Formats: sequence, C-alpha cells, structure tokens
Amino acid sequence: MKAWRVYGAREMRLDDVPYPKLELDSVIVKVKTVQVSVTEAQQFYSDFLASEKWVKRFKDEGPRLMYGHEFSGEIVEIGKNVKDFKISDHVFWGKSQPCGECEACQAGYGLYCTNHKLIGFHVPGCLAEYSTIDAAFLVKAQNCTDSEVAALQPITAALSGLVSAEMSIGDTVVVFGLGVMGLLTAQLCKAAGASTIIGVDIREESLRLGHELGVDIVVNAKKINPINEIQNATGNFGVDVVFECAGGSTRVGLAGTKTLAQAGSAAHPGGKVVISSIPEPDAKLDLTPLTSKNIQYRGRGHQTEEQLQWAIHLVETGQVKIAPLVTHVLDGIDKVPEAIEITLHKGKYAAIGPAQVVISI
Ligand SMILES: [Zn+2]
Repeated sequence: MKAWRVYGAREMRLDDVPYPKLELDSVIVKVKTVQVSVTEAQQFYSDFLASEKWVKRFKDEGPRLMYGHEFSGEIVEIGKNVKDFKISDHVFWGKSQPCGECEACQAGYGLYCTNHKLIGFHVPGCLAEYSTIDAAFLVKAQNCTDSEVAALQPITAALSGLVSAEMSIGDTVVVFGLGVMGLLTAQLCKAAGASTIIGVDIREESLRLGHELGVDIVVNAKKINPINEIQNATGNFGVDVVFECAGGSTRVGLAGTKTLAQAGSAAHPGGKVVISSIPEPDAKLDLTPLTSKNIQYRGRGHQTEEQLQWAIHLVETGQVKIAPLVTHVLDGIDKVPEAIEITLHKGKYAAIGPAQVVISI
C-alpha cells in the first residue's frame, strides 16, 4: 500500500509500505479523507525535526509514518479485544490517551497528563491508505460525511477551550482569530448559550464566514482597533470570556503575541482568557491584566465522553457547521504536499480550513 513517510526535516516521500499489522486492541482503518493540520504542517517546515534528538532517531529507526491525525476512516478489521466497534464503522481520533505512568496520571489527573500519546506522532497516523490504530483513540461518527468526520478532531480541541472557560449561559465572548479553531469555538459558544459573540480577524473572507456562522459583531483588526470596538460594544466593561485563537508564529501568517496581549484588555475585571492558540515556545505574556484586573488565564485540557458526544451531535444536527470551513478538497494520496502548501498559505489560496485529501471513496 502507499503511505507518506517522513525521512527528516522537510523531507517526506510517498512509499510502498507493508499493509499494517492488526493488534489485539487495535482496528485497521481504510483512510477515506485526511487533512494535514496547521500544527503538523508548521512543525514539518520548522527546524523541529532537525534537532539532534530527531536526526539520531531517523538515523536509528529510519523513516516514520508521521502526521495525519485529522482523518475519517472506515473500520475494515477489528482486533480480538475490541468490543465497541464493528466493521464499516466510520471513525476519527477524538480521545487523547494519558500515559498512565507519569506523576499526574498516578495522582488521578490523567486529563492533565503531559505525555499523552498522539496519533501521527507517537503512533502511525493516516497519511496512508490503511492504518492500524488503538481503538481507545477512536470515536464513531456515523451520521456525518467523510469530509466532516476528517474535520471533527479540531472540534474536540475547540471544545476543550469551552470546558476550560467554564462557560455560563448568557456569557459575552470575544474570539480572536476566525480560522478553524476560532470559527468552531464561536459556533460552540453559540450552542452553549453565549449572548454576544465578537469575532476579530484580519481577513475579510473569515469575518464574512464568521458572521454567517453566528458571530454577532465582526471586527477587522487591520482597519479598526479591536479593543476600542470591544469596549464600545460592552459599555466599556469588557467581555466574560476571551478565546485567543490567532497567536503563533508570524512566519506562517499567525499573530505572534499581539492578540495574546490584546486578550487581557478585552476581558472585564475577573474575566477569563483561554489560550487556544499554540504560542511559540519563547512567547512572552505581560501579566499586568492578571495583577491589575485579576484576569484568569487558562489553557486547554481534555474533555469527557459526554462532552465529545455533545459536540458530535451538534455537527450531526447542523448546529455546528463544518462544510463552509472546507474550502479545498484534492483527490488522491499523491496530493498531500499540495494540501500542505495550501494549508500553510491559507491567505494566498483563500482557504479557511486545512486542505483535505480524499484517499479513498
Ligand atoms: Zn501521564
């Protein structure tokens, strides 16, 4: 079968590899649709895999079946110990797996395990025609299209931001960044009962789509100071919850730490800022909003099975829409590099979500 293997920093090849081996606790999925996440694409083109540790690893272990954690797969074989799935179920990666061994896990804080096993990183991902996956990672989504299922994993990440924020009905919300995370977060906030959602971005197509998907007030930060606009909209008070979904490396068009700084000004005293973006490792945060206004900064954790099922239900019933976020769909496993190029330069290609690749139908 065909699979993309990573040979080192910025080097990926489409190889003929053996069909995966079924394990007792695993299933084999036929990959239907896959999308290379923004995070994966950024990491592949960064110096991450050029570090001494990774160079040695590639030398000792050879090329790896990396990336491809956002996929829809159809189960074609089931391991003997797997009880919750059947042949032909459609699945995606929805559940992180705590290591069970670290101090957090041993103390009963598995949701905060820092050694979570990740599909496409610690275990093979789905830039392949078939993949063997531990069933504990997987979640069924029977009433969605393959394209929707492939895009469900980011919803689990967006949802973990809402869980972390402890949202209440009637909360006022600002979402910085109306990319995939921001647009999903905004839709989830609407479904969770937010009263007013203010969306901030610098791309007109994202702002337009945000408005169509339920964002009440859209602010183009290229034209207007977003903090002034947020203060005007809230009687100079600020909002209950800010989701910062725009930060990250400016080399790939993200906002750096600018929106992280603005988030503290957008929340009212005692309000919450959830950092949903992945700031660069050396990013610095001014803590004045914390010390002067008691702003609570929060990260993202993981979510329960019930919360995950709620999110899938919202997609199945059309309350959270994924299709408008999927702007580019390519046919055939050989198109993965093209999909990465589009995903890394979404502005240039007028893309909203990552480009999808249909591996099989
Ligand atoms: Zn652990």
